[in-house]
Amino acid sequence: MIIGVTGGIASGKSTVARAFAALGAPWVDADDVAREVVEPGEPALAEITARYSRARVLNDDGTLNRRALREIVFADSAERRWLESATHPRIRARLTEHLARLEASGAPYVLLVSPLLFESGQSEMTDRTLVIDVPEALQIERTAARDDVDEAQARAIVAAQMPRAERLARADDVLDNGGSEAQMQRRVAELDRQYRQITSDQSHGK
Ligand code: ADP
Repeated sequence: MIIGVTGGIASGKSTVARAFAALGAPWVDADDVAREVVEPGEPALAEITARYSRARVLNDDGTLNRRALREIVFADSAERRWLESATHPRIRARLTEHLARLEASGAPYVLLVSPLLFESGQSEMTDRTLVIDVPEALQIERTAARDDVDEAQARAIVAAQMPRAERLARADDVLDNGGSEAQMQRRVAELDRQYRQITSDQSHGK
């Protein structure tokens, strides 16, 4: 069973994933895989440099200049769609490989942690979705405390993401992460019991 975990910036996705891992359920991070598919030597990077020229989108060491590429696709939605068509299928294929490997290692269930779980369609790869939810004011506060951004920038990032209500409407399960870390851990333990029960029922044909 694959649980898709998502939430806005600084909602606590990584923190929650670590709490699940401590109980024996490992995770794959879609952001890590998105970076992997554009590493030097990868076919997606070759397609990107063929389209935009090496000088424009590569750093001196041959790695992708993510900022330069971001500027290109932010300014032009057709280019953004092209970039997604070059990267999304490869990200999906690699996520599938990673998830299969984790499942084969005997994990009771596995997590796919993705900030764009719904927007990218990656939720189709999952059996259930878990949304990590925090009030926006707290999200902005935690973003500013963790990252090198001020409150106005944090607010702009939050405003550009999927609205909280829409994310919640799509969730099978919700983890309210507006409380303490101890409260978060108790909720993770509860969800862990629930997920183990579902997989155990499924394997007994219930
Ligand atoms: P995400 O992966 O969704 O961007 P993180 O897991 O990195 O979010 O959490 C964002 C920040 O909030 C981190 O600094 C983390 O330590 C903190 N944090 C997460 N959950 C809690 C909590 N329940 N109480 C206090 N701080 C938290």
